[in-house]
Amino acid sequence: MNKKGHVLNAALLSLGLGYVLEPSGDVETFRTIIMIGVPVTLGALFPDVDTAFGRHRKTLHNLPVLVGFVAFPYVFGNLEYVWIGVLTHYVLDVAGSKRGIALFYPLWKKEFGLPVGVAVSSRHADVMTMVITVLELALVALIVFEIPQWGFEMGRQMAGL
Ligand SMILES: [Zn+2]
Repeated sequence: MNKKGHVLNAALLSLGLGYVLEPSGDVETFRTIIMIGVPVTLGALFPDVDTAFGRHRKTLHNLPVLVGFVAFPYVFGNLEYVWIGVLTHYVLDVAGSKRGIALFYPLWKKEFGLPVGVAVSSRHADVMTMVITVLELALVALIVFEIPQWGFEMGRQMAGL
């Protein structure tokens, strides 16, 4: 996807995340949206820096880079949430665009993409971005709201209650 698609995806994802994590709809929700939205949007813009430095869709579009951003806050105590932006960038490139990305670069140069992807220049690119964003939010909501419930039920049954 192009920069517009990645910003749209990051902004809408952050808006949704704000409401999933802080559903009250008051100033706390707004605060959460800003707190998550700024680093997520920056993270979502980062991988395409490899259009200028390195090999596009390879150098900064791989799992080692993502692992680095996941680990960074634990090691250095800042850059929380940036990994979410990097991850959603990968998801959008893999699922939404035709070309795919080199997930295992530099070990393996093969680019992986899903066959549902559209060309970045396609007029369907924005629709594709919206669909993927909605699916991402549905998955997050499932994890946040449903999985704790399943865990609770399972624990209850195992305890024989
Ligand atoms: Zn990209």
